[in-house]
Amino acid sequence: MDAIAAAQVLSEIGYLLRQNPNEVYRARAFSAAAWALALERPDLEELHEANQLTAIEGVGAGIAKVLAGLVESGSSSYLDRLRAETGQPARDDESTIDLGAYQGDLHSHTDWSDGRATMLEMARAAKALGYRYLGVTDHSPRIKVVNGLDAERLLAQSREREQVEKEVEGLALLQGIEVDILEDGALDLPDAVLELLDVVVASPHVKLRQEASAMTERMLRAVSNPNVDIVGHPTGRRPGSREGASYDFELVFREAARHGVALEIDCDPARMDLSPEHARLALECGCNFSLDADAHAPAEFAYVPMAAWMARRAGIPMDRILNFKPLEALTMIAK
Ligand SMILES: [Zn+2]
Ligand SMILES: [Zn+2]
Repeated sequence: MDAIAAAQVLSEIGYLLRQNPNEVYRARAFSAAAWALALERPDLEELHEANQLTAIEGVGAGIAKVLAGLVESGSSSYLDRLRAETGQPARDDESTIDLGAYQGDLHSHTDWSDGRATMLEMARAAKALGYRYLGVTDHSPRIKVVNGLDAERLLAQSREREQVEKEVEGLALLQGIEVDILEDGALDLPDAVLELLDVVVASPHVKLRQEASAMTERMLRAVSNPNVDIVGHPTGRRPGSREGASYDFELVFREAARHGVALEIDCDPARMDLSPEHARLALECGCNFSLDADAHAPAEFAYVPMAAWMARRAGIPMDRILNFKPLEALTMIAK
């Protein structure tokens, strides 16, 4: 079993453990080990043979045992048990996700807002991973604590984008925004500004506890805005610590599909939003998906390979996932 496949197993174990409040620390340990595997991509067979699995960062005796089982049998009895205990058994209609076909990522941050790296550093990291494009989607002005971008700063950012594109050959930088979905469903930047951007990710960040009918109206209005390409982390949940927003998911997902708006599977282990269950519903509603790292630093691009199991378990075929499409096929660019 290769390191990425193993990372996905550890990631899923971390995710299932997080549903039990008593297992928060163990859950984090599994997620951290998954991330280390996705980043370092060690040769597990070799390490297992040399009895060295614990040499991997974040891998103690317990996780090493799970990895040893994976190397020996290709599956994890611990994961099977957790799936059974949490009522989320494996399904026979899971899809196949080939990460080698991965073309890019449409949701990332730089130090223009709350990212911890420059646009150049993020672009170089994306290029090193073989990506053909990267959506630079910093925050909108409402999020003051993270120095969200207004029209003027977006213009300044577009100049830097041009420079970076010259320096990092072969990578297209899509200038975008992660625009806040305000309480009434309006967006945090005027249409005239959104219109000019390559990619618009509209995300709910605040007032997630709104009453379901108001939240439904809010989300319906957001997905109806013709400038919106993707709904970012559509429920705002934080598995293990914060329940996401509750709304008429089917109604909103159907409306998103009707408007050609994709739904995000945000692969940040703190979010994992949409959940596989919600993603499956969205699939049935006709939606496309964007599998995003929501990276705030170069290393965080590894969130996607480690969480790709979510799309697989939701049964999403690759042709419904934007990131597997070449740049020319992304309709949002022309939208
Ligand atoms: Zn966000
Ligand atoms: Zn984000």
